[in-house]
Amino acid sequence: MSGLKIEIRGTVQGVGFRPWVYRVAHELGVTGRVHNHARGVTVEAFAADAALAALVATLRAPPLPARVRELVAEPLAGEPAEDFSIVHSAEGGPRALSIPPDLATCADCEREIRDPANRRFGYAFTNCTACGPRFTIATGVPYDRPATTMAPFAMCPLCRREYEDPRDRRFHAQPNACPVCGPKLALVAPDGTALAGEPIAGAALRLARGEIVAIKGLGGFHLACDATDEDTVARLRARKHRDEKPFAVMVADLATAHALATISEPEAALLASPERPIVLVARREPSPLARGVAPDTDLVGLMLPYTPLHHLLLAACDRPLVMTSANPSDEPICADNGEALARLAAIADAFVVHDRAIATRCDDSVARVIAGRPTLLRRSRGYVPRAIALAHAVGTPVLAVGAQLKNTFCIATGDCAYLGPHVGDLENLAALEFFEAAVARMENILSVRPELVAHDLHPAYPSTRYALGRGIRAIGVQHHHAHVASAMAEHGLTGPVIGVAYDGTGWGPDGTAWGGEILVADFARYERFATFRPIALAGGDAAIRQPWRIALALVDDAFGATASLPHLPVFDGRPTGVARAMIHRAIHAPLARGVGRYFDGVAAIALARGTTTYEGQLAVAWNLAAAPGDHAPYPSAIERGEIDLRPLVRAVVADVLAGVAPAAISARFHATLVAATIERVRAAVAARGPLPVVLTGGAFANPLLAEGIARGLPELRVYTHGEVPPGDGGIALGQALVADAVARG
Ligand code: ZN
Ligand code: ZN
Ligand code: FE
Repeated sequence: MSGLKIEIRGTVQGVGFRPWVYRVAHELGVTGRVHNHARGVTVEAFAADAALAALVATLRAPPLPARVRELVAEPLAGEPAEDFSIVHSAEGGPRALSIPPDLATCADCEREIRDPANRRFGYAFTNCTACGPRFTIATGVPYDRPATTMAPFAMCPLCRREYEDPRDRRFHAQPNACPVCGPKLALVAPDGTALAGEPIAGAALRLARGEIVAIKGLGGFHLACDATDEDTVARLRARKHRDEKPFAVMVADLATAHALATISEPEAALLASPERPIVLVARREPSPLARGVAPDTDLVGLMLPYTPLHHLLLAACDRPLVMTSANPSDEPICADNGEALARLAAIADAFVVHDRAIATRCDDSVARVIAGRPTLLRRSRGYVPRAIALAHAVGTPVLAVGAQLKNTFCIATGDCAYLGPHVGDLENLAALEFFEAAVARMENILSVRPELVAHDLHPAYPSTRYALGRGIRAIGVQHHHAHVASAMAEHGLTGPVIGVAYDGTGWGPDGTAWGGEILVADFARYERFATFRPIALAGGDAAIRQPWRIALALVDDAFGATASLPHLPVFDGRPTGVARAMIHRAIHAPLARGVGRYFDGVAAIALARGTTTYEGQLAVAWNLAAAPGDHAPYPSAIERGEIDLRPLVRAVVADVLAGVAPAAISARFHATLVAATIERVRAAVAARGPLPVVLTGGAFANPLLAEGIARGLPELRVYTHGEVPPGDGGIALGQALVADAVARG
């Protein structure tokens, strides 16, 4: 008889791990105990050596959604126990986060809510150790019921029995509840008065009538409406002041998803995963979906139900529902009942609310399959706060505050990094308040006091000002260096790498906006190997919503300042003379190198689209416009290491004037960017050797660019993003690691 103390870290709390250990121990005849603590789970085991070896081997591979990241076993002296038991959570000790992300309703729970004979029939808060809310209800660690927003609900005797029985599916399921003892739904009018009838049936009836219903979900409120009704969708758009940005659509099951869109095998797997992100897929034509769901694009964001409430509602409605984050314009998602009623009264006709509080707001995640692999474009609900394992431990705990758009923050401690929930654009006070509260809560549940804070170099970003106000050592990190470092961290690379960082904009140390950068970098330093010839943004940021201005700058540069403007439809009725004068005199016309700006400008010329309503709109349209197959690149040039696309612009203008279809122009435009990038990467390889290549930055949400470059460099190891977003939603991870490396010198 020997003893072993086994320390386990990973996603091992709130996922039925301890009852599983209990069952395994019983089967192997092992005695001892298992307990939860803030660092993870400890097993003390006594048995013959063979049984202990079998136990360790089994513990390394638990059933999903549990995940073991680290397992350390050491000999344990002492009295063998009589049997195997589960000990309650202990307080104290050094902490590493083991709260899992929120998990979609499992098949067993789904069966129960549909079974009229089950006591949870029709119950919207059904969950078990394999599913249910986690991060969004956690208020502290260890993850136990008193440290969740389920604390006020006292379990009834039946629920209590399930909770205490190690053989039960609900053993220590912290949010365990039933219709007798758990949270309750209510259907209320915008003035807060209760509406008669059963809430889900009532909401379904209203949705079928074309009303807009605000629904409290897992990480915040959604605004829901009939996704097949053009008038209803138009009304939601008008009330939400959202011109053309696509709405996500929730469908009852995969079969419905297949009917609405062309869905590949990896896309189906992503849709049905326990994380349940919104997945961007190609809409079928003709489609039962209202055109207004995504007026400007053939991509549609679909997701499957992830809470019992969603399952019940979709079944009662029997139609796809728009499910868009409930927030007026660009503010954070509403999470609190009172806040939702106050802020959404002018948008929603009715509200489905409940009395389980949301501790941390968490938007839906957004994913797309790029180069054959799932890529998160927004990493939030379902993924946060899952740890990203680092190749090397950081020296001291680091907080990284992200950039401006699609903001997320990151805390790195030990050999783990934790990206926070999607905050969104940090341009209003509400977003900044959410940001600060979410940082504080994450520090609290990690029990971490950051000693270092990393921020973008842009001096005017609110995130930068917040970082400088923390009163700890602050390190500024160049935007594209951070992008490259985030891709390195995701893939466990320590550098040097050739980092291709393409996006819309990021502060460059030379005062221009960077965004077409090829860097040779490790975590501590970078060298800029190549970039793009800059474009003058006549009117500054106004040019981003008015891409005719970017088109003008491209044409002006390509044909020369004195040439007369070619007659392109995109310039019809625009004050081109004023804008040209601004460029020539360099008045309010900052230089920008972002690849995203080339997309905007060339797309504007070829699609004759002078304005957009949201960032990235034209870039996505231009990507989707491309004809399939191989196409010859347009001519381009290299001048002093700068990729010069003036020859391309001249050729595009000639093609547009000759009536060439946008599909062909777009395909050749993409081929040109791919070819120019490959040429520069090969030049970097010639100078520095065959380093690994990482593709990062928001432009790599574009499958044509990522797939084309990866395919064109078969001799190199080319890495694209997966769980860490390529865009600014992933940048905080890279900031943290750069700051750590710089601080260590
Ligand atoms: Zn379940
Ligand atoms: Zn109960
Ligand atoms: Fe960026």
